[in-house]
Amino acid sequence: MKEDHYKIKKIQAREIMDSRGNPTLEVELKTTDGVFKSSVPSGASTGKYEAKELRDRDKERFDGKGVLKAVENVNAIIGPNIIGKNPCHQKEIDQLMIDMDGTLDKRKLGANAILGVSLAVCRAGAGSKGIPLYKYVSQISKIKGKSLPIPCFNIINGGSHAGNDLDIQEFMIIPQKKTFALNFQAGTEIYHNLEEILEKNVGEEATTIGDEGGFAPNISKAEQALDYIVKAMGKYSETKIGLDCAASQYFKNGKYSFEGEKLTGTQLGEKYNELVGKYPIIFIEDPFQEEDWVSWKKFQSNVLKIGDDLTVTNIDRVEEAVKKNCIDGIIVKLNQIGTVSETLETVKFCKDSGLKIIVSHRSGETKDDFIADFSVGVQADYIKSGAPARGERVAKYNRLLKIEKEIS
Ligand code: PGA
Ligand code: ZN
Repeated sequence: MKEDHYKIKKIQAREIMDSRGNPTLEVELKTTDGVFKSSVPSGASTGKYEAKELRDRDKERFDGKGVLKAVENVNAIIGPNIIGKNPCHQKEIDQLMIDMDGTLDKRKLGANAILGVSLAVCRAGAGSKGIPLYKYVSQISKIKGKSLPIPCFNIINGGSHAGNDLDIQEFMIIPQKKTFALNFQAGTEIYHNLEEILEKNVGEEATTIGDEGGFAPNISKAEQALDYIVKAMGKYSETKIGLDCAASQYFKNGKYSFEGEKLTGTQLGEKYNELVGKYPIIFIEDPFQEEDWVSWKKFQSNVLKIGDDLTVTNIDRVEEAVKKNCIDGIIVKLNQIGTVSETLETVKFCKDSGLKIIVSHRSGETKDDFIADFSVGVQADYIKSGAPARGERVAKYNRLLKIEKEIS
């Protein structure tokens, strides 16, 4: 069939639950080539400058977290405007939704409504061409390559993802094997070693898990967490570590409340560097709050400085961070900006600027594995999708296993 004949015939959004038991959207798109589905993730430690997800605020349903308005916006407003369009025209459809919304942060129609459609359109585009999603993303982004991203497994959870007293939100292990499959195996074995170590040293309840599937032991110091992790590495002693501080969460009244002390950005940077000197840490994500450009710039370390809440997958914020010499890489989350096209634009800017790319899930997830294909399509350096456990987390890693088999 000629490309001109591919058409969107029907679009239907529904309210479903995410991994935290909060409502989110699933969007189903029917085209001349089949039915394509996508669903939308949701963060807990969201950045101030992220695109805004639309929630009903009706306290009678899901404590105000329902997404029926966003569902209605897809079914009654966005849908009628994109029916008849060619799903291969991703940029045109994304731009149409951006224009229909008309706000800078997509608050009118909802970034969740817009992203649900954008993801489903992308899947439908791949379906129309009859190629796997990762190949399609590579085609529309014009990014070539056959590498798999290196997985960063979040095996100890703290911050707003757990009920413990750890200030740092994510302690990630980054195996250093040659293939994705071997890295997945290493990550999983270390995860299970850690489970045993925590049970023995902290107690049975130490292996309760946080939002991203990592353990949430009742400890309060980063050094304790890191000591247990290094011990768990066992035969994989070459494994590296990544931290997501999500520091906006412990920034209060102009100071960082970190492990019982009130610190300036400079003092906090010194604490981080003590950890960097002791443990094999290769990157620190959001070491400082999203408006504390001065501390970001001032922090000199042997690790990569990665922007998440600071940059929110927004090309303007990334540009500013590069200009101010604050970052070495960014976290890429499609729902921070709200469309596939804008995410690709940001990724391309990062690649041209020599920044590292870490494609990421959210703490509230579904079994949608879109980001696995996306990470290969844009040739990301890393992917983070939580622990190597829990269905919504391993869905992405399992998809990468399949992609690796297909392309190698
Ligand atoms: P979130 O956390 O999905 O809860 O925002 C993930 C992160 O900060 O990287
Ligand atoms: Zn983060």
